[in-house]
Amino acid sequence: MKVIKLREGKERSLLRRHPWVFQGSIDKGKADGGETVRVEGHDGAFLAWGAFSPQSQISVRAWSFDKAERIDAAFFARRLETAIALRGRMAIASDGVRLVHGEADGLPGLVVDRYGDLLSAQFLAAGVERWKDAIADALLRLTGCSRLYERSDASVRALEGLPSVRAWLRGGSDDPAASRVTIRESGWKLDVDVAEGHKTGYYLDQRDNRARFAQVVRQYGCKRVLNCFSYTGGFSVAALAGGAERVVSVDSSAPALALADAHVRLNGFDPARHEARDADVNALLREALKAGERYDAIVLDPPKFAPTAAHAERAARAYKDINRLALKLLEPGGLLLTFSCSGGVNADLFHKIVAGAAIDAGADGALLARLEGAPDHPTTLTFPEGEYLKGLAILKA
Ligand code: SAH
Repeated sequence: MKVIKLREGKERSLLRRHPWVFQGSIDKGKADGGETVRVEGHDGAFLAWGAFSPQSQISVRAWSFDKAERIDAAFFARRLETAIALRGRMAIASDGVRLVHGEADGLPGLVVDRYGDLLSAQFLAAGVERWKDAIADALLRLTGCSRLYERSDASVRALEGLPSVRAWLRGGSDDPAASRVTIRESGWKLDVDVAEGHKTGYYLDQRDNRARFAQVVRQYGCKRVLNCFSYTGGFSVAALAGGAERVVSVDSSAPALALADAHVRLNGFDPARHEARDADVNALLREALKAGERYDAIVLDPPKFAPTAAHAERAARAYKDINRLALKLLEPGGLLLTFSCSGGVNADLFHKIVAGAAIDAGADGALLARLEGAPDHPTTLTFPEGEYLKGLAILKA
């Protein structure tokens, strides 16, 4: 077993069960990509078993802080079993569920989503890449699914020196229909394509916020709704279900918008109540304002503007701008659901940005709720970096 020895004073983070060891913390030792290593303090004391990533700034991701643990196929089966059992207790109102959420489930770099009888997984670090077969076999056994699609095409793979992969890992076929499935979320039907959709196919992290949106649209009687960065229209379907008369979905992806239109029909709503606009949200908000459009509810769910804290300042300006415009487009008493999925912008900073946007818009508002990702995307106490999705529900004064 290869040993990674830390520099004096660099043990603290592992002792606090934070799962990452950065390159600069290592005194000596190296291993192959994904190889299991024993991490020791400068005094030789055991700290953790982990997977080595020779190419990444994050040199080791810890598997376990228990000296007696063996990192083998049975270890991965146990971790997966625990993760899946946890979801079973969460009373999730959907058959689209995140079964494994990386570090939060003690499986750094692994994301597994279940869509009906289909599994879709991302192997984002050298450790899970090395154990891919054991993980795939255990997943099929534990879920009873027979098909697993690999969506290891996220850009972070490059930081690990791993190639991009998008293919069936277990089961499946060349038929493009094989990667499509219709899930039932909060009673709505949503089509997901695990090969073509974003991430593993869909944004399951917003499930509870979509359900909540339907609720508040109804409660506050919102009639005209603007869903910005709509993707395939999850929030648009929610708005229609909540009684909105007219919903506009805006996205820069034409295929996503085509699905948004399809979702309106699939759920039995009159297509005349929905309009898909293929546009850049920033430009569209400005035009809508100029054209004198007004809305009773607006959703802002942009892509990650700040992947890390280093991008926070530029991201802050971008968030402020769209929130300012949205607040201007809202009628008094209107509802704003605004999100950030940037790891580099924490909930406090996001609150400040939106407050600043409101001042610039000459608006005030009541904070109805602070929003976060659905519980099957947990944040753990020891790994706060895992928290990424935050949002605010605001009622404009
Ligand atoms: N709210 C969605 C998820 C949104 S993901 C849901 O609940 O499923 C972010 C979306 O923003 C993606 O669909 C992407 O195509 C779109 N997007 C990114 N930049 C954009 C821009 N400048 N203008 C319009 N859409 C954009």
